[in-house]
Amino acid sequence: MADFPRSLPEFRRRFADEAACVQYLAAARWPDGFRCPTCGGATAWRLSTKPSTWECAGCGKQTSVTAGTVMHGSKLKLTAWFWAAYLMATHANGISATPLQMQLGIGAYKTAWLLCAKLRRAMVDPERNPLAGVVEVDETTIPFRTKEDPVAGGGGRSQAGKMPVIAAVEIVGDGPGRLRLAPIADYSAESIGAFVATNIAGGATLKTDGWAAYPGAPEVNHDPHVVGTMAAHVVLAWTHRVFANLKRWALGVYPGLRHNHLQSYLDEFVFRFNRRRTRHAAFRSMLGIGTRTRPVTYKMLITPELAGSASRKSASPFFTV
Ligand SMILES: [Zn+2]
Repeated sequence: MADFPRSLPEFRRRFADEAACVQYLAAARWPDGFRCPTCGGATAWRLSTKPSTWECAGCGKQTSVTAGTVMHGSKLKLTAWFWAAYLMATHANGISATPLQMQLGIGAYKTAWLLCAKLRRAMVDPERNPLAGVVEVDETTIPFRTKEDPVAGGGGRSQAGKMPVIAAVEIVGDGPGRLRLAPIADYSAESIGAFVATNIAGGATLKTDGWAAYPGAPEVNHDPHVVGTMAAHVVLAWTHRVFANLKRWALGVYPGLRHNHLQSYLDEFVFRFNRRRTRHAAFRSMLGIGTRTRPVTYKMLITPELAGSASRKSASPFFTV
């Protein structure tokens, strides 16, 4: 599967119809040929009425090639899913629902929004490892808007009209490794400590600006670089670069970020950053190929607070898009 299409025309030629998408999925899922998930049998027939479904010759169980992927149970064509994932994975800034709706010729905005939201949900690997080694950590605020309000602004550690966001960047040699971003309620030791505990491995060394809340994280070593605001961008070069790019991206791709969905937008930014050199892997993981089933309901997507606790392994029905 190393032969990932290098251009949009090549992509469209390769995944021109449903059969080509099914063939790609089947090859990714069963590289050594079909294997029944129920009985382990290797002999199966493809259903003529549902060409994406195999029926096991041994036990009769039907298995869809999209089972366990983000496309499972969807009414959208696989070509639409593939195209959307390709655009989101390869476009330097991603793509939001409105241009996606136009590019794919999708009738309803809500369908395009859900497609984007589901692909974005697939951007977080539930089994990813925490950051380790030397890790830069810093916070910033980014402006948010409501439906009615224009984008708000301001600076410093005050939170009026802005969302506090914390970032952690692994330092590997002279450059950045993996990134994590999360909204935080405030700059207290409790909020910062919770982020550190979730995202950074015990034994890591934190490089910070010396903000008083950082020593509250007991599992990690703390290496404060107490600096004035003039020098912070030098000492914490990578978090500062990430924040600058994040703010530019938020205003460029979306008309300002919305508070309710902030984590999923941050996840998208992190996903693209961490896979900046592996677009093929990004495309595959976005479609859920090779990952475990993570059903997402419409309610979880519109109410992100529900998602953290319930989405990963819940047995809720898929909301089909
Ligand atoms: Zn079987």
